[in-house]
Amino acid sequence: MYPNAKGDNQSPIELHTKDIRYDPSLLPWSAGYDSGSAKTILNTGKTFRVVFDDTYDRSMLRGGPLPGPYRLRQFHLHWGSSDDHGSEHSVDGVKYAAELHLVHWNPQYNTFKESLKRRDGVAVIGIFLKIGREKGEFQLLLDALDKIKTKGKEAPFTHFDPSCLFPACRDYWTYQGSFTTPPCDECIVWLLLKDPITVSSDQVAKLRTLLSSAENEPPVPLVRNWRPTQPLNCRMLRASFK
Ligand SMILES: [Zn+2]
Repeated sequence: MYPNAKGDNQSPIELHTKDIRYDPSLLPWSAGYDSGSAKTILNTGKTFRVVFDDTYDRSMLRGGPLPGPYRLRQFHLHWGSSDDHGSEHSVDGVKYAAELHLVHWNPQYNTFKESLKRRDGVAVIGIFLKIGREKGEFQLLLDALDKIKTKGKEAPFTHFDPSCLFPACRDYWTYQGSFTTPPCDECIVWLLLKDPITVSSDQVAKLRTLLSSAENEPPVPLVRNWRPTQPLNCRMLRASFK
């Protein structure tokens, strides 16, 4: 049904860190987010998504491997049925409990839809979540989930700057890939952050209280929303750090 999903540049992938070369030409990246651009939080039936106003250059990602500034459109999360898996990418065989994706698009292509047709149309920051101490900033999101329990529910979610979720270290791996959900367009410059953030087991458990079913349907927990890893093929991964 989705021909792109059979392409040679699919995501996620397995990262084998000893095979990834340091590229000294990779610049540091920076995010300048306007907390006023956060609009709503939505249960898509596959994940929850926080949606931002991207009608002008408000919340922007710059630098790194990117050819110009990119606009933040949404972020969402992938998780599993238990704490020992849930991330989409794996690092040296390790799967994290969850993976956060911040989706930005290149306004040079005028619309989000048009950017999906370009190799450098979209930039996604991927952040791994590992189990440990509770993270206060993450709780702001979790507290909103009760309002969007079932598929299709949406609630206001404003005054939120997602850079509060970033790890302190900005080191990253980068490669050319795709969306991990259909139609899996191959338009993504990935920036996968080397350092995970830490959240508690209880916090990840809260994600599993979301339902993939609609309000009037028998309840089905939303617990497996990660795509298995895909072949690397001829692609090159680069590291911003030694
Ligand atoms: Zn994702």
